[in-house]
Amino acid sequence: MTPLEFDARHLWHPYSNVLNPGAMHLISEAEGVWLTRDDGVRMIDAMSSWWCAVHGHRHPAITGAMQTQLDRMPHVMFGGITHAPAIDLGRKMIEFLPGDLNRIFYCDSGSVAIEVALKMAVQYQVAQGHSDRVQFATIRGGYHGDTWKAMSVCDPDNGMHGLFRGALPIQNFLPRPPIRFGEGWTNDPTLNGLGALEELLDTKSRQIAALILEPVVQGAGGLFFYHPTWLKKAHEMCEAHGVLLIFDEIATGFGRTGELFAMHHAGIVPDILCVGKALTGGHISMAATVTTETVARGIGESAASVLMHGPTYMANPLACAAAMASLDQLSQRDWQADVGSIADQMQHELEPARNIPGVADVRVLGAIGVIEMDAWVDPSVAHTRAPQSGVWLRPFAHNIYCMPPYVISPDELSSVTAAMVALARVM
Ligand SMILES: *Cc1c(COP(=O)(O)O)cnc(C)c1O
Repeated sequence: MTPLEFDARHLWHPYSNVLNPGAMHLISEAEGVWLTRDDGVRMIDAMSSWWCAVHGHRHPAITGAMQTQLDRMPHVMFGGITHAPAIDLGRKMIEFLPGDLNRIFYCDSGSVAIEVALKMAVQYQVAQGHSDRVQFATIRGGYHGDTWKAMSVCDPDNGMHGLFRGALPIQNFLPRPPIRFGEGWTNDPTLNGLGALEELLDTKSRQIAALILEPVVQGAGGLFFYHPTWLKKAHEMCEAHGVLLIFDEIATGFGRTGELFAMHHAGIVPDILCVGKALTGGHISMAATVTTETVARGIGESAASVLMHGPTYMANPLACAAAMASLDQLSQRDWQADVGSIADQMQHELEPARNIPGVADVRVLGAIGVIEMDAWVDPSVAHTRAPQSGVWLRPFAHNIYCMPPYVISPDELSSVTAAMVALARVM
């Protein structure tokens, strides 16, 4: 059996048919924006490997920090033991985070960070004497991960709700904020989508622990960009009703939308924040759930004072070292200028796609470029074209999109946008 034959016969791939996973590229090396196949074919990773590798692959400062840590202590448990990589990273994260988001729970993946956030919210509410506040509210079009509770707050139509109907707890879904990023705001609650939130809070807020959403950019739910003022108003309404606000910035955190965090577009700070993906610059899995002094105290001072969660590999030192080095890169580089010029160039180079038949919309925010098609896009077409175009794209649903590493050069980015436009033409 060749390696690819073995892979096809024995290995599951994400969101794939185990018997027919489709064509597969055998990648043997990744450096900067480039993926290299075992036969030497090179492709630009326009996905930043699922939105993580913001500084490019195998960044010497990050691999160097990991190597140093590897020689000293790849892992120890975090129960009753602590270590410099966790502490240094904590200090650095608090420097990066706004408001009093300063109580950090390290997780091993984004979905786990969401589970922890949801647990924190319920535990805080129960500690406040609100034992009925165990439900969640969210907006349609969201994606928060693949574990059970995270899945329950993903979009009920395009997520996995259909398949697992009956096994998922019912949550409270609000319409997706109708006013897009960059459009004019109106205070009319029937037009700005806040009427539905108001109604929900007026009738049911005593059963709701928290509102959870991806601020400004909904990622895997359809790459939809909505108006930050919706968040600002929702924040005020939640506060008035004792409902916590959870921001899932696993996709948007660390500069992707042009601000360090997407919440900065709205100028607000949630009660609980989840980060992941780009935290380690795409070098190793790590995420975190961060909350405020108020929520942490509410839990810690209560009768059930212990947060019952603790991943085996919590605060893995290698992951902490990678995250620390990745955040250092962000501090040292003018990432905002990089993301700004990526946005300008994508705007310019993707705009012509608007005239291609079958294209529904073209939009750019920060280092996210999207060509939305009328019809579902078959990812295998992109997949087959990648070696010739030299650009690795993995469309999903109706979207041909890219989220390139911030270090991509203008020429490389032109190859990416050209591949996207060419793909839109053949779909
Ligand atoms: C990717 C993602 C998650 C899940 O993170 P994993 O590390 O894949 O578990 C959750 N929320 C958002 C917004 C994401 O983009």
